[in-house]
Amino acid sequence: MKEAMFYQKREAQTVQCLLCPRSCVIEAGYSGNCLARKNEEGVLYSASYGQITSFGVDPIEKKPLYHYFPGRDIVSFGSFGCNLHCLNCQNYRISQFVAPSVELAPEALLARSLEEPGSIGIAATYNEPTVNLEYVLEVFKGNRAAGRKNVLVTNGYINPKPLAALLDWTDAVNLDVKAYDNGFYESVCKATLAPVMRSMEAMLERPELHTELTWLLIEGHNDAPDEISAFSERVAAIRPETVLHISRYYPNYLMNHPETRREALFAAQDAAKAHLNYVYIGNFNEGDHGTYCRSCGACLVDRHGYEIAVKVKDRFCPKCGTPHSIRMD
Ligand code: SF4
Repeated sequence: MKEAMFYQKREAQTVQCLLCPRSCVIEAGYSGNCLARKNEEGVLYSASYGQITSFGVDPIEKKPLYHYFPGRDIVSFGSFGCNLHCLNCQNYRISQFVAPSVELAPEALLARSLEEPGSIGIAATYNEPTVNLEYVLEVFKGNRAAGRKNVLVTNGYINPKPLAALLDWTDAVNLDVKAYDNGFYESVCKATLAPVMRSMEAMLERPELHTELTWLLIEGHNDAPDEISAFSERVAAIRPETVLHISRYYPNYLMNHPETRREALFAAQDAAKAHLNYVYIGNFNEGDHGTYCRSCGACLVDRHGYEIAVKVKDRFCPKCGTPHSIRMD
C-alpha cells in the first residue's frame, strides 16, 4: 500500500478522500466506496497500489481507440475497484470486489511492458484506473520517460485536480459515457452525470490529448435519438472530429435486459452522425467499420474485426490531401 494523494485528515483518525465526487468520509479500518482506498490508523492508503488483477497485450482497437495508432498493440493492465456500480458491468469481478491480484511494482510493470516490442505503450484499463491514481501516475511517468504512449480508459468520475494531474501524463483517453441523463447515472450506475461531463470537457479542451468516447447502448434505457443527438451536439461544439463508439450491450452482471438490436444501433449511429464526423458501432460485426476521408471519401483505415489495413502515412488523406484526425506519432 502507498499513502494516497488527494485526501484530508479529520478528527478521531477519520479521513475524507477528495479523489472523486463521492468525497467518502472513512473511519479507521474501513475502505472507501470504490474499495481501492483504505484508512489505516488515520492515514489514507491506496489499497490497490501495485495489485495487478489483469495483464495483457491488446489491439488498440479493443480499448476502443480507432484513430490512435490503428493496427498497433498496447500492453494493458488493471487492478481492482471502481467508484461506479453499474448494474451491467462487464468487468464486475475485478471492479466490484477486491479481486485476487499479483504484486507488481511500477518498475516491474514497465520492464514487463518493454518485453513487448510491438506495443506502443501502456493502457490503464479493465477496472477503473482513476481510483488507482498513485500507481497509474508512477507507471505513466516512467513509460513516458521511455518514449512510449500512455492510454487511460476511464468512467471520468473524478474531481478536477486529480484529473488534471493524470491527464498531464496521458496521451490518449477513452471516456466511457454511460448516458446523457442524470436519472440513468443514478439508477444504473449509482452516480451522477455532471462530474462526467465536466471531465469530458476538460479532456476535449486539451488539444494535445487524443480523446475518444464510448456509449454502451441499452434499449429503453439510453437509446433515445434525442438524447444521443443532444450529447453529440455538445461534444461537437468543442471538437467535431471526436470519435464516438456506439457499443452493443449484452446482458451482464445484475442486468438481464435483452441484447441491443441492430436497428437500435444504426438509429443511434444516425443520431450521433448528425453532429459528429466519426461514429462507429462496436461489439457488433455487421456493417462497415472503416474510416473514410470526410472530403473525398477515400478509405483511410480498413477494419474487419481486428484485421486492420492502414492506408495513411501522415496526417493527410493520400488521395485529396485533406487533414484527418488519425494520430500515428
Ligand atoms: S476515490 Fe474511492 S474512496 Fe475516494 S471518494 Fe471516490 S469512491 Fe470514495
